[in-house]
Formats: sequence, structure tokens, C-alpha cells
Amino acid sequence: MALIRATCSECGDVELRSRDLQVRICTDTGGGTYLFRCPICRMTEVKTADDQVVDILVAAGVRCVEWRLPSEMGERPIGEPISHDDVLDFHELMNDAAWFTTLAAMVEM
Ligand SMILES: [Zn+2]
Repeated sequence: MALIRATCSECGDVELRSRDLQVRICTDTGGGTYLFRCPICRMTEVKTADDQVVDILVAAGVRCVEWRLPSEMGERPIGEPISHDDVLDFHELMNDAAWFTTLAAMVEM
């Protein structure tokens, strides 16, 4: 198992084994990061990784995980932005025991 030197923002350079790191690739943006838990302070470090770093880490046996952005990020909001009046209306609505039924009736299509 390869030894990999990484840098903890608190402790400086630390040596890790390939199983102690993980590469993450966002399939939507192509952006890469790697993360590890520092063996000294136990804090998790997340660093950006360009394609070259990703290739080196994966070749060294680091596990690679792909992830996707939350689908909510692709959704276009509809309607007006929520205002303070909307929040107050919602607060008053929730004072009624039947608030959920009332609310559900308001959003039925
Ligand atoms: Zn550390």
C-alpha cells in the first residue's frame, strides 16, 4: 500500500496510506477533491484536486467516489420570493391545530 504525504492545515505534513484517503469526483462539474482524517488531530481535511492529482491518487490505490449535485440546484424556482409577510402568515397558520390540512389544501393542483 502506497504511502502518501498530505498536508493538514493544523499539523502540517502527515503521511497516510492510500486506504486513509478518498477521492471524490462531481459528475456534474467534473471537479475533484480528496479528503482524509489527519492521524494527529483527527480532523477531516478536504482539498481540491485537479485531474493530475486525481490520477496520481487513484493510481496509488485511493478509492474514488463519484457524486452528483443535489437535483434542487437544477430546479428553477417558481413564484415570488418568500417575504416577511409570508413568514408571518405561515406562523399564524401554524397556531391552528389543523395547519397541515389547511396548508395542503392551499398547494393542491
Ligand atoms: Zn491535523
